[in-house]
Amino acid sequence: MTPGVRPLIAGNWKMHGTLASVRELAAGVAAGQASGADLLVCPAFVHLSAVAETLGSGSVALGAQDCHANPKGAHTGDISAAMLADLGVRFVILGHSERRADHAESDAVVLAKAEAALTSGLTPIVCVGESEAQRVSGEAEDVVAAQLAGSLPEGFAAAGGVVAYEPVWAIGTGRTPTEADIAAMHARVRAELEQRFGAAGSTLRILYGGSVKPGNAKAILALPHVDGALVGGASLVAGDFLGIAAAA
Ligand code: PGA
Repeated sequence: MTPGVRPLIAGNWKMHGTLASVRELAAGVAAGQASGADLLVCPAFVHLSAVAETLGSGSVALGAQDCHANPKGAHTGDISAAMLADLGVRFVILGHSERRADHAESDAVVLAKAEAALTSGLTPIVCVGESEAQRVSGEAEDVVAAQLAGSLPEGFAAAGGVVAYEPVWAIGTGRTPTEADIAAMHARVRAELEQRFGAAGSTLRILYGGSVKPGNAKAILALPHVDGALVGGASLVAGDFLGIAAAA
């Protein structure tokens, strides 16, 4: 944790759920909200309205998993940041490794999307992380530094943007880096943020993501510069997600 920074525990529901199941999950999260951390859930686009309704005016925030870089226009099948803001969405995950892989999203695309998010008043959660080959070859920190340089827009710090460090090989695999490796990477991310944004970079939240579970959350969240978690699989069970939040 970074002293004075309130942790954020974010659930990335990916392409999961039915209207009925996401309503139930959102209600379960809202019923047990932890006091020591901010909570955020990010359902699929088609479930945002239903989850917004279930969450009501409670303290669990609503996020989306992507947005288009343009505010409107001829982009069949896409969703703009302005449309998300209109629904009550406050955060948007951008540059997740699954989007970088499935949709060939480059740093430049992520940067443009993050700019659009800021313009619409959404807080971007920009994801970065190395592949297993890059970790093995010792390039992990430089890869992540380059992703940050290419993906974060100018106004990122002023808007309280969030960085999520997610090693690609740790996502959905049950494997995590060592605590020392997580701490080293988060220290590097912090240094990059401070170099780019000055003092404002010292208090931006840096989340860890990749196989976070109730059983490993306490140790990971206790590391310096780990200011929360981006949780995939374990966020689909309210009790597990709340168990992670309770560790913050
Ligand atoms: P996981 O996913 O928790 O299932 O590893 C994390 C993520 O992709 O954000």
